[in-house]
Amino acid sequence: MSAAALARPEIRALDAYAPARQESGMLRLNANEASWTGDGAQGLNRYPPARPRELHEQLAALYGVAADNLLATRGSSEAIDLLVRAFCRPGADSILVTPPTFGMYRVYAAIQGARLVTAPLEEARDFAFDAGRALGACEDATKLVFLCSPNNPTGGLVSEADVLRLARARHGRSLVVVDEAYVEFSGAPSLARKAAESCNLVVLRTLSKALALAGARCGAVIGPADVIRLLDGLLAPYALARPVIDCVRHALTPPNLERAEAAARAVIAERERLAAALAASPLVQRVWASRGNFLLVRFARPARARASLREQGILVREFDDAALQGCARITIGAPDENERLLGALAAEAPA
Ligand code: PMP
Repeated sequence: MSAAALARPEIRALDAYAPARQESGMLRLNANEASWTGDGAQGLNRYPPARPRELHEQLAALYGVAADNLLATRGSSEAIDLLVRAFCRPGADSILVTPPTFGMYRVYAAIQGARLVTAPLEEARDFAFDAGRALGACEDATKLVFLCSPNNPTGGLVSEADVLRLARARHGRSLVVVDEAYVEFSGAPSLARKAAESCNLVVLRTLSKALALAGARCGAVIGPADVIRLLDGLLAPYALARPVIDCVRHALTPPNLERAEAAARAVIAERERLAAALAASPLVQRVWASRGNFLLVRFARPARARASLREQGILVREFDDAALQGCARITIGAPDENERLLGALAAEAPA
């Protein structure tokens, strides 16, 4: 049984909007567009394609799947929103998350009126994913299981074996979602192809991190074709703006992809260098091993470390979770930026 059958009945029955046809060589008097173009807005009087086919094909090629196994979204954040809206009945269904993890799963669930079920990662186990615990926490009404790999902010991976075990165990009851926002920095293979071949697994990818396009807002959800079709019905027509389509298509050309790969390799090298340097700092109590483009650290004297970083004009991510008391997530910057960070912490270290 495909996980598409688990979607909300009204979504399964949805009669999706049919956007105005776009046929080359035809006069378009069918979309109430302006017939003139403003200054510097070449072609923007026209709607972009409702679903840009070439962009989908380029993304599908990049991730090694067929175009009908993929939907491009405004960042992977939007894909999370679409999934929760498609699968969770307000007041009835739940999603499972493994905190500490990316906060938007919880937020979109709250917006939809879906309950949150948690299988926390334990610091005593170095925040390692525990498949048994996650399975045990699932309820009958748990429609989505969000696994973040590498996990933001703890940096650990969920193994392929664990993902497939969860997908098998929850077959007919849940769709397993693997958020691979940081997979390019992990050295681990993506599960995109496995998701395309599965019946209840989807993978989220984003161009915001390794492709350096956070400002363009583009991501993708990859999975069984019928799940993708369902999500497609929820996504606004013309979701991706024309300038976004053009700039993403350019970023996906071979020379730019090679640059992105080289940049990811440099981030990995810097991450390891920075992890070692931070671990040696007297202001740092703990650095967790990370497979992302960030490090989770616990400061020995959090208030002083924070004040010092702020004084030096450096922002790091802090958390409200009790589990992350005194911790910060630090993005791996360029080598000179990382030096600045180390300098700021060294300046505060006791003599
Ligand atoms: N997933 C994870 C794990 C993230 O950390 C982020 C952004 N911080 C996202 C998804 C969303 O990224 P975007 O919407 O830019 O693709």
